[in-house]
Order: sequence, then C-alpha cells, then structure tokens
Amino acid sequence: MRRDFLPFTRPSIDESDIAAVGDVMRSGWITNGPANSEFEKSVADLTGCRFAVALSSATAAMHILLKVLGIGPGDEVITPSMTWVSIANMIELVGAKPVFVEVDRDTLLVRPDAIRAAITEKTKLIVPVHFAGAPADLDSIRAVAGNIPVVEDAAHALGTFYKGEHIGRRNASIFSFHAIKNITCGEGGMFVTDDADLADRVRRWKFHGIGMDAFDRQNRGRSPQAEVISPGFKYNLTDMQAALGLNQFRRWKKINARRRELAMLYREKLRDIPEISPLGDPDYDFVHAWHLFVVRVTSPKIGRDAFMNELKARNIGTGLHFRCAHLQKFYREKYAFAPGVLPDTEYNSDHICSLPLFPGMTDGDVDDVVAAIREVLA
Ligand SMILES: *Cc1c(COP(=O)(O)O)cnc(C)c1O
Repeated sequence: MRRDFLPFTRPSIDESDIAAVGDVMRSGWITNGPANSEFEKSVADLTGCRFAVALSSATAAMHILLKVLGIGPGDEVITPSMTWVSIANMIELVGAKPVFVEVDRDTLLVRPDAIRAAITEKTKLIVPVHFAGAPADLDSIRAVAGNIPVVEDAAHALGTFYKGEHIGRRNASIFSFHAIKNITCGEGGMFVTDDADLADRVRRWKFHGIGMDAFDRQNRGRSPQAEVISPGFKYNLTDMQAALGLNQFRRWKKINARRRELAMLYREKLRDIPEISPLGDPDYDFVHAWHLFVVRVTSPKIGRDAFMNELKARNIGTGLHFRCAHLQKFYREKYAFAPGVLPDTEYNSDHICSLPLFPGMTDGDVDDVVAAIREVLA
C-alpha cells in the first residue's frame, strides 16, 4: 500500500507563482490593479474575445450576469443538474427558476434535445457546462436556443476547444480559477464576451455599480467623484490573486499537457477493469482540458461510496463531481422532485467518482491508484 496520501487534486504552485504574488505584496498596490488588467488581456486573447472581466469567482460572475440580464421572478434558466450547485443557487437567489435538464449518460454533457424540450416562453437564459473539460455541443445548442441567450459555464474549460475554437468564442462564458481548477488564483473567475455593453455592465456591477474602481480612477484619469449608476456588488479580484492566475496562465499548455498524459495513462490501465467505466468522448472535433478524470463504479459487489472509502483507506483520495443538484435537499423539497425525473443524471450521480488528477502526479501515482482499485474490487 502507498505510504503517503495521494490527494484527489493539488494546485501546481511553483516558486515563480510565489514570487509573482510577493511582488504584488511589495508593490503597495494589492487589490484590483495592473495584474488584473494583464490577466484579463491574456484570457481575452486565448478565447478570441474582445472583453474579459476578472471577478472574485465564477459564482460571482453568474450572480452579476443574471442581474445584468434582468433575470428574476417569473423567469426560467435552463441548466443541467449534473454540475456544481453554484449556478442553480444563483438562479434561485435572484428569484428565478432553474430548469434542470438531462445530460448524455456517457459524456455527462448537456443534451440539446433536452434543452429544446425544456424551452418555454419564460426561458431567459441557457447555461451549458463543459463537463470535466470536454465541450458541450455548442452548434446544436445554438440551433435549439434560437434567440435565447447562451452563457457557457467554462469553469472546467481553460484549454478546451470546440471545432478548432477555444471556449468563449461563441457565447459569453465564465471561467473559474478556484483552487482545484486547471489554473488557479486561490479563488477567482473571469467573464468573457464580445459584447462591449455587456462587459461594461458586468464591470460596473462588480464594483459597487460605480463603473470603475480605485485603480481606474488613479491610472485612467477617472474622477473620485464618480457616482453610483446602479447598485452593484463587491466582486472584484485582488491583484495578489490575479498575479497568481496570470503567472499560472503562462504555463497552461504545460499544465494541461501533463493532465492529458495522466488521463491517457488511466484510460490505458483501466481498460481491462470492466467495473470501472471512464466517461466517453463526444463525437465532434474537440480538445479536452482534462480538468477531471471521472469514472463510473459499476461493480455489483461494492457501491461507489464504499469504493471511495476503501480507496481512502489505501491512501488514495477521490472526489465526487457531482452529486446532481435537483435531488439535493433544497431543490428536491422546493420542486418536489422524486428520483427518476432525470435518470441518466441520477445514474451517474450515484456511480461517478473522480480519480486523482493533477500535474504534479507521477506515472507511478497512476499505478498506485490502479493497483488500489484492483485490490478494492478483488
Ligand atoms: C467550480 C465550478 C463553478 C464555480 O466556480 P467558483 O469560481 O468556485 O465560483 C461553477 N461551475 C462548475 C461546473 C464548477 O466546477
């Protein structure tokens, strides 16, 4: 058995990251400043978008976006249930209704036909998720969405390409730089769009509704007398966080390449273990960001939860991405959902488990995980 614990993930922080944050701390300007602007520009360039707005989290970005789009009571937002609960929570908190739709049983990507079936005259927004780093089928989603806005949950999709284009090119998109994401600020998010007005409004809402922050005032000649245009939040990113994100961003290709190598090793080594079934690939042209390596545990002898415990007892950490949203207490009770409404989502919610995947892992770590899995299933 492994002597030390292998966590399911660990951020890849190197000395240059620590130095970059230290430089900001020594500069005397620690909140929204030059690292924010540079980080925004880097992500805008990668996505091919004209505008990027750095925010304190992807959840904050979604909150602002719903407000900016005027979504509230009486409105519906379509989103898969197989995702992190933050999107549904924000929809609830602005008074709108999340309409949960089914995902493909094998890829966990939202199904365009399910979106089509869920559209009503109340639908104000569609939020597909690029699950685990594979892209949702954006062409088909656009075809069913018609004129309804689509905003992509790209929390897993830094380095994801759909038909040759980086995610963010087709619709406004939200990235996350939470500690477990491919690149991290500790906490952080980024909203990208080609719509100047939308970008402006998100920027204003992230800082008290004033439309500019202290750095803008000092460096872009805006007046400290600037006034509130509409009430806003306080969802800006500090420059300490932005410097970390920016420095990590400079090596995203290397980070994702190592994630891919590890994922390919897992696929190869798990091939002859029939009780462990990795997610499938979508059938269109894409590049995977390998944010997560998700498998389904289908053994008749051991359930997923016990499987995770047994791996932990063998010093192997795992994650659960995700427990479906619609059957969690609040949603289940509020909307009277009974098991069976979204069978493919629920099947996966009960059987999935994320194996350790982070760039600092060695090939030997993958061997340890696979050996422990074989032992648990034996
Ligand atoms: C992490 C995550 C979010 C939220 O990101 P934060 O930056 O933590 O707010 C949203 N959606 C998905 C699918 C995520 O994995």
